[in-house]
Amino acid sequence: LANIYMALVHYPVYNKNREVIASALTTIDLHDLSRLAATYNLAGLYVVTPLEDQLRVAQEMIDHWCHGWGKAYNRNRSEALSLVRLARSIRHTRAEITETCGLAPILIGTSASTVLNRATYEQVSALTDGKTPVLLLLGTAWGLTTESLAECDYNLEPIYGPTAYNHLSVRSAAGIILDRLFGRR
Ligand code: SAM
Repeated sequence: LANIYMALVHYPVYNKNREVIASALTTIDLHDLSRLAATYNLAGLYVVTPLEDQLRVAQEMIDHWCHGWGKAYNRNRSEALSLVRLARSIRHTRAEITETCGLAPILIGTSASTVLNRATYEQVSALTDGKTPVLLLLGTAWGLTTESLAECDYNLEPIYGPTAYNHLSVRSAAGIILDRLFGRR
């Protein structure tokens, strides 16, 4: 999937009081989401945060597993983490993908709550035409802000099971979303 990207957004996101914060990275997110990106053959996984110390933590982790002792120890992790790219904002991420692909990415927002301009999984998979890049935005903490979701070209319909409860971890949500969009039946 030459032009499908995923971004794990740490700012701007909501906290439980619906204030806009910059959430801290969790290394399990990077491991899990990079392995998902490798499994579904994504072009890259962007880790988005403006915080210098968080960017350093992520870079140190990538260096360890991709270049350091970790690479010899576990090549599977190294292969997955080599898909991780760091960016200070969603705007920077879009600009870098535009630079790489020569076309601006279609922005797809995700959220557990129903949002405006919702798109079904069928509509979003139809967008992956192999030319125009697609960037899936995943939030952390209590989710992406209304402003970020409003800037998306589409917002993927929330994942629901048979009940009203649908507050998934970003790792579980990403797995379900990618398999619904790109998984082999
Ligand atoms: N209540 C938050 C929300 O409405 O998105 C859940 C935040 S959750 C810890 C982090 C991210 O996982 C969300 O920003 C979204 O990207 C994804 N996510 C969580 N539950 C989801 C669902 N049911 N459907 C789609 N995406 C979901």
